[in-house]
Amino acid sequence: MAGRLRQVLSRIERSALRSGRRPDDVTLVAVSKTVDVPAILAARKAGQAAFGESKAQELQRKVGALDPGTRWHFVGRLQRNKVPGLVGLAALIHAVDREDLARSIAAVAQRRGVVQPILLQVNVGGDPAKAGCRPEEAPALLARVRALPGLACRGLMTIPPHDTDPRPVFASLRALRDQLRAAAPELEHLSMGMSGDFEVAVEEGATIVRVGEAIFGPRPPVRVPRPAGATG
Ligand SMILES: *Cc1c(COP(=O)(O)O)cnc(C)c1O
Repeated sequence: MAGRLRQVLSRIERSALRSGRRPDDVTLVAVSKTVDVPAILAARKAGQAAFGESKAQELQRKVGALDPGTRWHFVGRLQRNKVPGLVGLAALIHAVDREDLARSIAAVAQRRGVVQPILLQVNVGGDPAKAGCRPEEAPALLARVRALPGLACRGLMTIPPHDTDPRPVFASLRALRDQLRAAAPELEHLSMGMSGDFEVAVEEGATIVRVGEAIFGPRPPVRVPRPAGATG
């Protein structure tokens, strides 16, 4: 695992240099969903500081098992009832795509006297299976989110559709961020790129890449609930 981690870091570095960027401007979030604590501890020992989880309870459990210098990113789809378990624990919540969710996070953060950093998820590829606001909705959503105390929107996040070239999707997210940044200079982050495409994402301006399997190895397949009565 430590060897794979080093490889991913060096691929990030080479992609950054190739595109005239500083490797230090890209943060690797090691996506540790479904990964057991010992493997996470090994990555931590190898110098990895940021980990990503997609379930609130799993994140909470793992926070307690690692040292307080570890940074936890929440990268999954978030339901409002899970918000209280994450605010203040997650260094960054990546996938905020609706105003009601932003309001819930802001309300909990205010009650606790903290400011919760978030990203807005944008469905650049228009994939109906993916979460995220439509690109044309992003300016209005950002304006409403910026007005909420207790929240700090730091940038944009996207997941490209399967089986398409991710580069134009990443380039579009960057263009949208640059456009929005004219009025919102705090939008420094672009969270884009996973195991299969993080080098392309770095070339297109990613400041955060979310990489799981390339570091920790294959995950067990996600079980998709089958409709009642289905066979096979
Ligand atoms: C699981 C996950 C990742 C990591 O995917 P890999 O293919 O394992 O690199 C990145 N981002 C999100 C939102 C995820 O859910």
